[in-house]
Amino acid sequence: MKHFNELGLAEPILRAISNEGYSQPTPIQAQVIPLMISGKDVVGIAQTGTGKTAAFVLPLLNRIHARGQRPAAKTCSALILAPTRELASQIADSIRTYGREMRVSVTVILGGVKPGGQIRAMARGTDIVVATPGRLLDHVQTGVVRLDATETVILDEADQMLDLGFMPTIRKILAKLPKERQTLLLSATMPKQIRALANDFLDNPSEISVAPTSRPIERIDQSVMHVERDQKRDALVGILRGKDVERAIVFTRTKRGADKVCEFLQKAGINSGAIHGNKSQPQRERTLAAFRDKKTKILVATDIAARGIDIDDVS
Ligand code: AMP
Repeated sequence: MKHFNELGLAEPILRAISNEGYSQPTPIQAQVIPLMISGKDVVGIAQTGTGKTAAFVLPLLNRIHARGQRPAAKTCSALILAPTRELASQIADSIRTYGREMRVSVTVILGGVKPGGQIRAMARGTDIVVATPGRLLDHVQTGVVRLDATETVILDEADQMLDLGFMPTIRKILAKLPKERQTLLLSATMPKQIRALANDFLDNPSEISVAPTSRPIERIDQSVMHVERDQKRDALVGILRGKDVERAIVFTRTKRGADKVCEFLQKAGINSGAIHGNKSQPQRERTLAAFRDKKTKILVATDIAARGIDIDDVS
Protein backbone atom coordinates (compact mmCIF):
# COMPACT_ATOMS: atom_id res chain seq x y z
CA MET A 1 0.00 0.00 0.00
CA LYS A 2 1.33 3.44 -0.95
CA HIS A 3 1.83 6.28 1.49
CA PHE A 4 1.08 9.92 0.84
CA ASN A 5 4.77 10.83 1.05
CA GLU A 6 5.54 8.52 -1.91
CA LEU A 7 3.26 10.41 -4.26
CA GLY A 8 5.48 13.44 -4.89
CA LEU A 9 3.44 15.97 -2.88
CA ALA A 10 5.07 19.03 -1.28
CA GLU A 11 5.60 19.32 2.47
CA PRO A 12 2.80 21.83 3.33
CA ILE A 13 0.28 19.61 1.55
CA LEU A 14 1.45 16.52 3.41
CA ARG A 15 1.10 18.44 6.69
CA ALA A 16 -2.49 19.42 5.85
CA ILE A 17 -3.37 15.82 4.95
CA SER A 18 -1.90 14.60 8.17
CA ASN A 19 -3.92 17.26 10.08
CA GLU A 20 -7.02 15.76 8.49
CA GLY A 21 -6.03 12.42 9.97
CA TYR A 22 -5.69 10.62 6.62
CA SER A 23 -3.21 7.79 7.01
CA GLN A 24 -3.24 6.39 3.48
CA PRO A 25 -4.29 7.51 0.03
CA THR A 26 -7.49 5.92 -1.25
CA PRO A 27 -7.13 3.84 -4.45
CA ILE A 28 -8.20 6.69 -6.72
CA GLN A 29 -5.76 9.04 -5.00
CA ALA A 30 -2.88 6.56 -5.33
CA GLN A 31 -3.54 6.36 -9.08
CA VAL A 32 -4.59 9.87 -10.03
CA ILE A 33 -2.09 11.94 -8.01
CA PRO A 34 1.08 10.62 -9.76
CA LEU A 35 -0.61 10.85 -13.19
CA MET A 36 -1.66 14.45 -12.58
CA ILE A 37 1.80 15.37 -11.30
CA SER A 38 3.34 13.88 -14.45
CA GLY A 39 1.10 16.12 -16.56
CA LYS A 40 -1.08 13.40 -18.15
CA ASP A 41 -4.73 13.83 -19.07
CA VAL A 42 -6.91 11.43 -17.08
CA VAL A 43 -10.40 9.96 -17.36
CA GLY A 44 -11.52 8.67 -13.96
CA ILE A 45 -14.62 6.60 -13.42
CA ALA A 46 -15.38 7.11 -9.76
CA GLN A 47 -18.23 7.96 -7.47
CA THR A 48 -18.59 10.19 -4.45
CA GLY A 49 -17.08 8.62 -1.36
CA THR A 50 -13.97 7.33 -3.10
CA GLY A 51 -11.88 10.35 -2.08
CA LYS A 52 -11.96 11.71 -5.64
CA THR A 53 -11.98 15.36 -4.56
CA ALA A 54 -8.59 15.11 -2.85
CA ALA A 55 -7.35 13.04 -5.82
CA PHE A 56 -7.48 16.15 -8.00
CA VAL A 57 -7.19 18.93 -5.40
CA LEU A 58 -3.87 17.69 -3.96
CA PRO A 59 -1.95 17.65 -7.29
CA LEU A 60 -3.48 21.03 -8.21
CA LEU A 61 -2.20 22.49 -4.96
CA ASN A 62 1.16 20.86 -5.61
CA ARG A 63 1.47 22.62 -8.95
CA ILE A 64 0.43 25.97 -7.47
CA HIS A 65 2.93 25.55 -4.63
CA ALA A 66 5.74 24.74 -7.07
CA ARG A 67 5.05 27.68 -9.32
CA GLY A 68 4.87 30.25 -6.51
CA GLN A 69 3.75 32.98 -8.89
CA ARG A 70 0.59 35.05 -8.61
CA PRO A 71 -1.95 34.68 -11.40
CA ALA A 72 -2.46 37.68 -13.71
CA ALA A 73 -5.60 39.81 -13.42
CA LYS A 74 -8.83 38.02 -14.45
CA THR A 75 -7.07 34.69 -15.00
CA CYS A 76 -6.97 31.43 -13.07
CA SER A 77 -4.31 28.74 -13.37
CA ALA A 78 -6.79 25.95 -12.63
CA LEU A 79 -10.49 25.59 -13.35
CA ILE A 80 -12.87 23.07 -11.75
CA LEU A 81 -16.36 22.64 -13.18
CA ALA A 82 -19.06 20.97 -11.09
CA PRO A 83 -22.76 20.34 -11.72
CA THR A 84 -24.34 21.91 -8.65
CA ARG A 85 -23.65 24.94 -6.51
CA GLU A 86 -23.48 22.77 -3.41
CA LEU A 87 -20.83 20.51 -4.88
CA ALA A 88 -18.80 23.50 -6.09
CA SER A 89 -18.88 25.04 -2.59
CA GLN A 90 -17.88 21.71 -1.07
CA ILE A 91 -14.90 21.41 -3.45
CA ALA A 92 -13.81 24.96 -2.55
CA ASP A 93 -13.96 24.01 1.14
CA SER A 94 -11.72 21.01 0.44
CA ILE A 95 -9.21 23.26 -1.36
CA ARG A 96 -9.10 25.57 1.67
CA THR A 97 -8.65 22.60 4.00
CA TYR A 98 -5.86 20.90 2.06
CA GLY A 99 -4.27 24.25 1.17
CA ARG A 100 -4.26 25.77 4.63
CA GLU A 101 -0.48 25.40 5.09
CA MET A 102 0.33 27.24 1.85
CA ARG A 103 -0.69 30.31 -0.14
CA VAL A 104 -3.56 29.59 -2.48
CA SER A 105 -6.49 31.69 -3.65
CA VAL A 106 -9.86 30.15 -4.56
CA THR A 107 -12.80 31.85 -6.20
CA VAL A 108 -16.22 30.20 -6.37
CA ILE A 109 -18.35 31.20 -9.34
CA LEU A 110 -22.00 30.19 -9.03
CA GLY A 111 -25.31 31.15 -10.50
CA GLY A 112 -28.10 32.34 -8.22
CA VAL A 113 -25.98 34.87 -6.32
CA LYS A 114 -25.11 38.49 -7.17
CA PRO A 115 -22.06 38.62 -9.45
CA GLY A 116 -20.35 41.58 -7.72
CA GLY A 117 -18.19 39.56 -5.34
CA GLN A 118 -17.13 37.18 -8.13
CA ILE A 119 -16.22 40.10 -10.40
CA ARG A 120 -14.11 41.76 -7.68
CA ALA A 121 -12.34 38.50 -6.82
CA MET A 122 -11.54 37.81 -10.48
CA ALA A 123 -10.23 41.34 -11.08
CA ARG A 124 -7.19 40.37 -8.99
CA GLY A 125 -6.78 36.95 -10.60
CA THR A 126 -7.02 33.70 -8.65
CA ASP A 127 -5.17 30.40 -8.46
CA ILE A 128 -8.25 28.17 -8.66
CA VAL A 129 -11.77 28.84 -9.91
CA VAL A 130 -14.49 26.40 -8.87
CA ALA A 131 -17.58 27.02 -10.98
CA THR A 132 -20.90 25.82 -12.24
CA PRO A 133 -20.85 26.06 -16.04
CA GLY A 134 -23.59 28.62 -16.80
CA ARG A 135 -22.35 31.51 -14.70
CA LEU A 136 -18.74 30.85 -15.69
CA LEU A 137 -19.59 31.13 -19.39
CA ASP A 138 -21.43 34.42 -18.68
CA HIS A 139 -18.30 35.79 -17.01
CA VAL A 140 -16.06 34.60 -19.85
CA GLN A 141 -18.32 36.20 -22.44
CA THR A 142 -18.42 39.54 -20.60
CA GLY A 143 -14.65 39.54 -20.07
CA VAL A 144 -14.80 39.15 -16.26
CA VAL A 145 -12.88 35.86 -16.49
CA ARG A 146 -10.07 35.08 -18.93
CA LEU A 147 -9.25 31.44 -19.61
CA ASP A 148 -6.11 31.93 -21.71
CA ALA A 149 -3.71 31.28 -18.81
CA THR A 150 -5.50 28.19 -17.45
CA GLU A 151 -3.18 25.19 -17.25
CA THR A 152 -5.41 22.57 -15.67
CA VAL A 153 -9.12 21.81 -16.02
CA ILE A 154 -11.15 19.37 -13.96
CA LEU A 155 -14.64 18.24 -14.95
CA ASP A 156 -16.20 16.72 -11.84
CA GLU A 157 -19.36 14.58 -11.98
CA ALA A 158 -19.40 14.94 -15.78
CA ASP A 159 -22.38 12.63 -16.18
CA GLN A 160 -24.48 14.72 -13.83
CA MET A 161 -23.51 17.85 -15.78
CA LEU A 162 -24.74 16.03 -18.89
CA ASP A 163 -28.05 15.16 -17.17
CA LEU A 164 -28.52 18.79 -16.20
CA GLY A 165 -28.10 19.91 -19.81
CA PHE A 166 -24.71 21.58 -19.39
CA MET A 167 -22.96 19.81 -22.27
CA PRO A 168 -23.19 22.66 -24.84
CA THR A 169 -21.96 25.14 -22.22
CA ILE A 170 -19.06 22.89 -21.24
CA ARG A 171 -18.02 22.46 -24.85
CA LYS A 172 -18.04 26.25 -25.31
CA ILE A 173 -15.90 26.71 -22.19
CA LEU A 174 -13.41 23.99 -23.19
CA ALA A 175 -13.06 25.52 -26.65
CA LYS A 176 -11.87 28.77 -25.04
CA LEU A 177 -9.05 27.13 -23.06
CA PRO A 178 -5.45 26.96 -24.28
CA LYS A 179 -4.68 23.85 -26.36
CA GLU A 180 -1.66 23.17 -24.16
CA ARG A 181 -3.27 22.19 -20.88
CA GLN A 182 -4.01 19.26 -18.62
CA THR A 183 -7.55 17.92 -18.41
CA LEU A 184 -9.09 15.52 -15.90
CA LEU A 185 -12.59 14.20 -16.43
CA LEU A 186 -14.38 12.44 -13.57
CA SER A 187 -17.67 10.67 -13.96
CA ALA A 188 -19.59 8.01 -12.09
CA THR A 189 -20.79 6.49 -15.37
CA MET A 190 -19.61 6.69 -18.98
CA PRO A 191 -22.55 7.36 -21.30
CA LYS A 192 -21.57 7.88 -24.93
CA GLN A 193 -21.83 11.68 -24.80
CA ILE A 194 -19.21 11.74 -22.03
CA ARG A 195 -17.01 9.37 -23.99
CA ALA A 196 -17.35 11.74 -26.98
CA LEU A 197 -16.46 14.71 -24.81
CA ALA A 198 -13.31 12.92 -23.64
CA ASN A 199 -12.39 12.03 -27.23
CA ASP A 200 -12.84 15.61 -28.39
CA PHE A 201 -11.12 17.46 -25.57
CA LEU A 202 -8.61 15.15 -23.85
CA ASP A 203 -5.19 14.25 -25.20
CA ASN A 204 -4.45 10.52 -25.04
CA PRO A 205 -5.84 10.18 -21.51
CA SER A 206 -4.97 7.48 -19.01
CA GLU A 207 -8.15 5.81 -17.90
CA ILE A 208 -8.71 4.59 -14.39
CA SER A 209 -11.73 3.15 -12.72
CA VAL A 210 -12.26 2.55 -9.05
CA ALA A 211 -14.98 0.65 -7.32
CA PRO A 212 -16.68 2.58 -4.54
CA THR A 213 -15.10 1.69 -1.19
CA SER A 214 -18.35 0.06 -0.26
CA ARG A 215 -21.21 -0.15 -2.68
CA PRO A 216 -24.36 1.63 -1.47
CA ILE A 217 -26.26 -1.62 -1.76
CA GLU A 218 -24.11 -3.07 1.02
CA ARG A 219 -24.74 -0.19 3.36
CA ILE A 220 -28.35 0.64 2.68
CA ASP A 221 -31.34 -1.46 3.66
CA GLN A 222 -33.88 -1.00 0.92
CA SER A 223 -37.59 -1.55 1.23
CA VAL A 224 -40.75 -0.62 -0.61
CA MET A 225 -44.03 0.24 1.07
CA HIS A 226 -47.31 0.24 -0.85
CA VAL A 227 -49.72 2.82 0.56
CA GLU A 228 -52.77 4.68 -0.65
CA ARG A 229 -52.12 8.27 -1.57
CA ASP A 230 -54.09 9.64 1.38
CA GLN A 231 -52.05 7.52 3.78
CA LYS A 232 -48.62 8.52 2.52
CA ARG A 233 -48.18 11.37 4.96
CA ASP A 234 -48.97 9.32 8.04
CA ALA A 235 -46.72 6.54 6.79
CA LEU A 236 -43.83 8.95 6.25
CA VAL A 237 -44.26 10.59 9.64
CA GLY A 238 -44.40 7.13 11.22
CA ILE A 239 -41.14 6.10 9.58
CA LEU A 240 -39.33 9.32 10.38
CA ARG A 241 -40.41 9.18 14.04
CA GLY A 242 -38.89 5.69 14.29
CA LYS A 243 -36.24 5.41 16.98
CA ASP A 244 -33.43 4.46 14.61
CA VAL A 245 -33.94 7.54 12.45
CA GLU A 246 -31.49 10.16 13.61
CA ARG A 247 -31.15 12.06 10.36
CA ALA A 248 -32.79 11.31 7.04
CA ILE A 249 -33.17 12.64 3.52
CA VAL A 250 -36.58 12.50 1.84
CA PHE A 251 -36.49 12.78 -1.94
CA THR A 252 -39.44 14.13 -3.86
CA ARG A 253 -39.99 14.21 -7.60
CA THR A 254 -40.93 17.88 -7.84
CA LYS A 255 -39.86 21.15 -6.22
CA ARG A 256 -43.45 21.85 -5.13
CA GLY A 257 -43.60 18.35 -3.67
CA ALA A 258 -40.49 19.07 -1.62
CA ASP A 259 -42.05 22.22 -0.15
CA LYS A 260 -45.32 20.42 0.62
CA VAL A 261 -43.63 17.49 2.34
CA CYS A 262 -41.41 19.82 4.34
CA GLU A 263 -44.42 21.86 5.44
CA PHE A 264 -46.44 18.91 6.72
CA LEU A 265 -43.41 17.44 8.48
CA GLN A 266 -42.92 20.79 10.26
CA LYS A 267 -46.62 20.74 11.22
CA ALA A 268 -46.17 17.24 12.57
CA GLY A 269 -43.38 18.61 14.78
CA ILE A 270 -40.50 17.08 12.80
CA ASN A 271 -37.72 19.58 12.26
CA SER A 272 -37.03 19.68 8.53
CA GLY A 273 -35.75 21.84 5.69
CA ALA A 274 -36.35 21.72 1.94
CA ILE A 275 -33.75 22.13 -0.79
CA HIS A 276 -34.44 22.46 -4.50
CA GLY A 277 -33.69 24.58 -7.54
CA ASN A 278 -36.31 27.26 -6.83
CA LYS A 279 -34.72 28.23 -3.52
CA SER A 280 -32.25 31.07 -3.53
CA GLN A 281 -28.60 30.14 -3.18
CA PRO A 282 -28.27 31.57 0.37
CA GLN A 283 -31.39 29.57 1.37
CA ARG A 284 -29.93 26.40 -0.14
CA GLU A 285 -26.67 26.91 1.71
CA ARG A 286 -28.39 27.61 5.03
CA THR A 287 -30.63 24.55 4.71
CA LEU A 288 -27.72 22.26 3.85
CA ALA A 289 -25.54 23.70 6.63
CA ALA A 290 -28.32 23.23 9.21
CA PHE A 291 -28.72 19.60 8.15
CA ARG A 292 -24.96 19.00 8.13
CA ASP A 293 -24.67 20.56 11.62
CA LYS A 294 -27.54 18.37 12.88
CA LYS A 295 -29.79 21.37 13.56
CA THR A 296 -32.48 19.94 11.33
CA LYS A 297 -33.33 16.26 11.36
CA ILE A 298 -34.85 15.86 7.90
CA LEU A 299 -33.69 17.22 4.56
CA VAL A 300 -36.43 17.17 1.92
CA ALA A 301 -34.85 17.40 -1.51
CA THR A 302 -35.37 17.06 -5.20
CA ASP A 303 -32.62 15.24 -7.10
CA ILE A 304 -30.47 18.36 -6.78
CA ALA A 305 -29.06 16.70 -3.65
CA ALA A 306 -29.03 13.18 -5.06
CA ARG A 307 -25.34 13.04 -5.87
CA GLY A 308 -22.01 14.45 -4.89
CA ILE A 309 -23.05 15.75 -1.50
CA ASP A 310 -21.07 14.20 1.32
CA ILE A 311 -22.87 14.20 4.68
CA ASP A 312 -21.93 11.84 7.48
CA ASP A 313 -24.26 9.76 9.64
CA VAL A 314 -27.44 9.88 7.62
CA SER A 315 -29.34 7.00 9.20
P1 AMP B 1 -15.13 12.41 -1.92
O1 AMP B 1 -15.22 11.09 -2.62
O2 AMP B 1 -14.10 13.30 -2.52
O3 AMP B 1 -16.47 13.07 -1.78
O4 AMP B 1 -14.56 12.13 -0.43
C1 AMP B 1 -15.28 11.38 0.50
C2 AMP B 1 -14.77 11.56 1.92
O5 AMP B 1 -13.51 10.88 2.13
C3 AMP B 1 -14.52 13.00 2.36
O6 AMP B 1 -15.23 13.20 3.56
C4 AMP B 1 -13.03 13.09 2.60
O7 AMP B 1 -12.74 13.95 3.67
C5 AMP B 1 -12.63 11.67 2.91
N1 AMP B 1 -11.25 11.30 2.48
C6 AMP B 1 -10.65 11.66 1.32
N2 AMP B 1 -9.42 11.11 1.22
C7 AMP B 1 -9.22 10.37 2.34
C8 AMP B 1 -8.12 9.56 2.83
N3 AMP B 1 -7.02 9.38 2.12
N4 AMP B 1 -8.28 8.96 4.02
C9 AMP B 1 -9.42 9.13 4.73
N5 AMP B 1 -10.48 9.87 4.34
C10 AMP B 1 -10.39 10.50 3.16
